[in-house]
Amino acid sequence: MPKKTIDDIDVRGKRVLVRVDLNVPQDEHGAITDDTRIRATLPTIGALRERGAAVILMSHLGRPKGKPDPRYSLAPVAGRLSALVGQPVPLAPDCVGPEVEALAHALQPGQTLLLENLRFHPEEEANDPDFARSLADLADIYVNDAFGSAHRAHASTAGVAAYLPAVSGLLMQRELAALSGALDNPERPFAAVIGGAKVSSKLAVLRHLLTRTDLLLIGGGMANTFLRAQGYEVGKSLLEADLVDTARAVLDEARQAGAQVVLPDDTIVAERVAPDAPHHSAGIAEVPPDWFIVDIGPKTRALYARTLSTCRTVLWNGPMGIFEMAPFAEGTRAVAQAIAALAANGATSVVGGGDSVAAVEELGLADQMSHVSTGGGASLEFMEGRELPGVAALQDK
Ligand code: ADP
Ligand code: MG
Repeated sequence: MPKKTIDDIDVRGKRVLVRVDLNVPQDEHGAITDDTRIRATLPTIGALRERGAAVILMSHLGRPKGKPDPRYSLAPVAGRLSALVGQPVPLAPDCVGPEVEALAHALQPGQTLLLENLRFHPEEEANDPDFARSLADLADIYVNDAFGSAHRAHASTAGVAAYLPAVSGLLMQRELAALSGALDNPERPFAAVIGGAKVSSKLAVLRHLLTRTDLLLIGGGMANTFLRAQGYEVGKSLLEADLVDTARAVLDEARQAGAQVVLPDDTIVAERVAPDAPHHSAGIAEVPPDWFIVDIGPKTRALYARTLSTCRTVLWNGPMGIFEMAPFAEGTRAVAQAIAALAANGATSVVGGGDSVAAVEELGLADQMSHVSTGGGASLEFMEGRELPGVAALQDK
């Protein structure tokens, strides 16, 4: 069920409390090293200000463990926000309490206030109803634009929605539209490319996707467990021996569901997991006993690229190899390029997952994808078919 957005309500003259994700990376001096997340909040903030709302922003930053800690203050974020919004965005001394209430109530239409780190209070992550109520008391309307935190049932992502009209922001709306568009109503053929380190972390994703996709292409460390399930030796490669039977069951389930599973034909094997280790390509039946599978091989790269070029919708989660090491990034690069090329034909490409998104950004291909998710854990849970608490709490359209 689609959720109401800020376009569906009247915000003029209202105080709007917006949960955003301002959890930016910082260096040891507190300087912001990447402001992507701050920039991602600007469309919603801009729309609300233009429409005459007073905007109260709230976010967490890092893991301050439930007590105030200046190292996790949102002060540097307030500075960057002010520059980007083009208007001072003052930082409140806290996120609840009489002083904050006074600041919130004095806020004029078009002005913006940032609350201090929500996680300075243990009640935030505990989803404490009184704390949620105190947040709600600051405003007339609640907006959730923090897709990256929507898989958590915290006071600011879920609890607060019990006390205010609750709608999604524009970033949240874009995330939900892209992910549910691909999963619920894909143009076919629809392929999912699933990789990454472990089967265990992707089992629920695989099971959910195999009932929806026409093709399931598997790579990365998790492919090893599938290869083992088919009787191949994988040397010293990452292997989840306790999941070999489960991998076999997944292959059966896929067959029954009519999804074609494509596994690697060949691999890159390395003597050690190190960028300077000797390495070469090897067929899946030729993995040396003491070596490690570190990437998909050249035949598999070509096969996956060819297969993907015929698809109209592709969902990608999980790198094809240990892409952090340049010699083992070719599989991930080939798949990323094949998926990026789809947009030219009007096909849909959606990338989710922290490392997959990092790889796509590193390769400079992010802007060629239909959608690159800003939420690692949240996008994964969405691909598992789970209802995200931060989404469930919003009003249906
Ligand atoms: P995402 O964050 O996109 O969901 P994952 O966290 O599941 O992806 O997996 C990413 C990790 O998988 C990367 O750190 C990468 O090095 C690792 N990986 C990929 N292929 C292999 C492999 N063959 N052996 C060991 N690790 C691998
Ligand atoms: Mg990851």
